[in-house]
Amino acid sequence: MNFHRRVQEERRKGREVLDLTVGEPDFRTPGFIVEAAYRAMLEGKTHYTPPQGIPELREAIAESEGERKGYPVEPDQVIVSPGAKPLLYYAMLALVNPGDWVVIPEPGYPVYRYLAYLVDARVAPLPLRPEHAFRPDPEDLRRVLDLKPVLLVINSPSNPTGAVWTEEDFKMLAEMLQEQPTYLLSDEIYGRIVFDGRTQAPSPAAVEALRERTIVVDGFSKAFAMTGWRLGYGVIPKTLVSTFRSLQSNIVTCAPSFAQWAALTALREGEKAVQEMVQTYQKRRDLGVALLTQREAGLTLIPPQGAFYFFPKISDGSTEPFVDFLLKEYGVGVTPGETFGDWGKGYIRISFATSETVLKEGLNRLLQALDAYSAEQ
Ligand code: PLP
Repeated sequence: MNFHRRVQEERRKGREVLDLTVGEPDFRTPGFIVEAAYRAMLEGKTHYTPPQGIPELREAIAESEGERKGYPVEPDQVIVSPGAKPLLYYAMLALVNPGDWVVIPEPGYPVYRYLAYLVDARVAPLPLRPEHAFRPDPEDLRRVLDLKPVLLVINSPSNPTGAVWTEEDFKMLAEMLQEQPTYLLSDEIYGRIVFDGRTQAPSPAAVEALRERTIVVDGFSKAFAMTGWRLGYGVIPKTLVSTFRSLQSNIVTCAPSFAQWAALTALREGEKAVQEMVQTYQKRRDLGVALLTQREAGLTLIPPQGAFYFFPKISDGSTEPFVDFLLKEYGVGVTPGETFGDWGKGYIRISFATSETVLKEGLNRLLQALDAYSAEQ
């Protein structure tokens, strides 16, 4: 958000800037979803709903989750909330006492660390190394689990790396967790945005031994291009449902009513629209991988398997000076890797939630800037 703001500032100064910082789809919300919200409002569906969400939507989510991810979900386990973010926070509030260990993925979405600090947790990063294609290394996992964390956060597909954990990764985790009560907070917000013929990233909840300890967080923001609607959902272990419901009821009451009705239409009729958007992301991913891997020195890229970011390594230290240079001299905005934790140092995050034209031009300028920058150093 910070770097996105800098792009906006440059634009206000009258500069033309290609923005590759954005963390949200560039598509409009599909029209039939907008119409469903409009209809709901005209029908008077503009009041509070039950805190957990309207039953019709919870039933549809339970069915869709079960089918896509391959695990049984009861509607009573589903809680609909204003975005995925509150659910991440509810999980921390429900489970973490001051001084408890929380493990977060790094490089990873910075919000996890921030939320963990709000509940006075001790935070341990799980390094996700390029040698392991940004998936977990057994030794690293063992080391953080030895801290007996109350919560381990997983984000697959990952923001910022685009890595997707495999079923084997989750089985390995299940083996390691046999003797301890750690909960998993699985942020699956990019779960449908996966490439190369897949339609859904695996969930730890599909592994029976992990199901009772997994809080699945998902939502409509990314897959349906509905970031501004604020609509996410969780699938919560039965023992935690009443705590989550009470947090939601006391903090935000419920998710917006007409947005919930529109989401029901999104789930029932939106599959084709999602697939079309994913195909477009895939085209851009292929284009970007081809452009970025042309370069033989000074940049290494592990092609993303999901989400809409490239995360190439361009140096060994902070990339903020280069990111500034790129913005000021070449009019391209990207995000420095250290935003995503110490393990992100040396990287930059490039969003491809933008048109092919902007992406192509932005990447070409970026490659020129890298040459000029390394010549200057
Ligand atoms: N989780 C990750 C990994 C994200 O990248 C984002 C948004 O950028 C969110 C959660 C937030 O999702 P929502 O808009 O549903 O709150």
